[in-house]
Amino acid sequence: MSSARIDTSLTQATQTLASSTTARLDAELLLAHVLNQPRGYLFTWPERLLSDAEATTFRRLVNQRRDGVPVAYLIGQREFWHLTLKVTEATLIPRPDTELLVELALDLQPSQAAIKVADLGTGSGAIALALASERPHWYVVAIDKSSAALTVARENAINNGIPNTTFLKGLWCDSLAAGSMSMIVSNPPYIASADPHLMEGDVRFEPISALASGTDGLNDIRQIARQALPCLVSGGWLLLEHGHDQGAAVRNILTCAGFTEIRTETDLANHDRVTLAQKPDG
Ligand code: GLN
Repeated sequence: MSSARIDTSLTQATQTLASSTTARLDAELLLAHVLNQPRGYLFTWPERLLSDAEATTFRRLVNQRRDGVPVAYLIGQREFWHLTLKVTEATLIPRPDTELLVELALDLQPSQAAIKVADLGTGSGAIALALASERPHWYVVAIDKSSAALTVARENAINNGIPNTTFLKGLWCDSLAAGSMSMIVSNPPYIASADPHLMEGDVRFEPISALASGTDGLNDIRQIARQALPCLVSGGWLLLEHGHDQGAAVRNILTCAGFTEIRTETDLANHDRVTLAQKPDG
């Protein structure tokens, strides 16, 4: 048994992680993971001693975090919506911002109709699984070009007990039949490839193919806008997440692609975040 108590280990780790804006929280999440306990356990048993193996593992994880590795990759999971999702280096770490897209999609289709919905670039499955869990009568198709990401997403569907999602390997709308989807949603890569933010913080460790999209960050959104229209039913909706300064450009792309009823919604920080567009009737 080491001589390290839970409370003193947390204090030391918080000091080691001082350069993280969430040092204390990071330390708590890592230690709870090492002990295989919920976070509350740390406050119930502050004087418990760590075993030597636990102390060693905790030190290793804290050092990796100090070197920048995201907590979600170190503990292998992240909460999104009300789901616990496995994440690996093959998937983007789901962000709270993306919950806006889920809310808007649910608001657009509140009825009990058994519609078909596609999530393009599903990654860990975050959006697809949040929607499928809220609307058990929907049929959700989750698409990604990465087999490694699809393996994670499939596992997340099983672990969260979500049966109404199918996983397909492919590029954007390539595997979707014409006129088949009532709604298409996506949180595509949308960062400009030379954006210095790609060199900072958690994103350094995330798959670049999930983040960057050409010189203006809009290459994938242009492709999706073009491909999605024919795959939607008349009156069907496309919802795209994008950068805070891309609202006008995305609305313009969607107008040129033939969509109507185009509007941008803001996230909790009051930034443009999701643009919605409808396929015209007829
Ligand atoms: N759809 C996934 C998410 O929102 C992955 C998005 C991506 O890789 N760009 O987390």
